Amino acid sequence: MSKPKIERTLVLVKPDGVVRGLIGEVVKRFEMVGLKIVGMKMMKITPDFAKQHYFAHVEKDFYPELEKRIIAGPVIAAVLEGMNAVEVVRKIVGSTESKSSVPGTIRGDFAHVGLDYQGTKNIVHASGNLEEAEKEVGLWFSEKELFEYKTMYEKHIEEE
Ligand code: UDP
Ligand code: MG
Repeated sequence: MSKPKIERTLVLVKPDGVVRGLIGEVVKRFEMVGLKIVGMKMMKITPDFAKQHYFAHVEKDFYPELEKRIIAGPVIAAVLEGMNAVEVVRKIVGSTESKSSVPGTIRGDFAHVGLDYQGTKNIVHASGNLEEAEKEVGLWFSEKELFEYKTMYEKHIEEE
């Protein structure tokens, strides 16, 4: 059997999710599946920071609108840890376009507007792959802001 892949990934509750009062709902969904929160904070980011976070999108047509939305208010940033956390978190978040993200996912349950509308709001950000996750965790969190502890489930496994 291959060794389980413990990964860390970045999740943001975007300003549109914060103002809709969805912080608890979003966090709950990650806790429900047993992912471990190893860092969490509220931040209001600057245009410069937004460009670092979304560096892959800075040249795209939709970037000005995207930047406007991500700096519009405070975000909740969290680092989640677990087996294949990057893929599992993306599954829980749902596909980028809320119009087609399936019910049961965060974007599918709480938004519906397609990407053809430039100001579309899709509640959350989640790192797209492991490389992105490593970069984003490093951008948003210092080592001191990340914590090591054992969840009840991990303690339980140890006892078996
Ligand atoms: N976005 C947009 N229009 C597009 C593509 C993306 O407004 O045509 C926004 C949307 O908020 C999305 C973010 O830019 O969440 C980052 O795009 P990406 O393709 O990385 O999607 P994600 O990783 O967030 O699913
Ligand atoms: Mg992305």
